[in-house]
Amino acid sequence: MKCIICHSEDIRITAVREVLRVENDVVYVPIQIPVCFACGERYYDRQTIRYLEEVERQLKEGKANLQEVGKVLVYS
Ligand SMILES: [Zn+2]
Repeated sequence: MKCIICHSEDIRITAVREVLRVENDVVYVPIQIPVCFACGERYYDRQTIRYLEEVERQLKEGKANLQEVGKVLVYS
């Protein structure tokens, strides 16, 4: 597999946190996906996209099991 952005072949399955936003909240969703180590491009397969859509649906319905790990702050 070659990166479509930079054509590097250094693509590895990597644990990353996908960031989803629900109104003012930021939710990190741990996933494992191929990531280009040369440019950082992330590759999402159909299954991962479906999984993230399902998580997003649960978040909107307030059904997700969430743990607070930090604060989101606005400087004013
Ligand atoms: Zn790349």
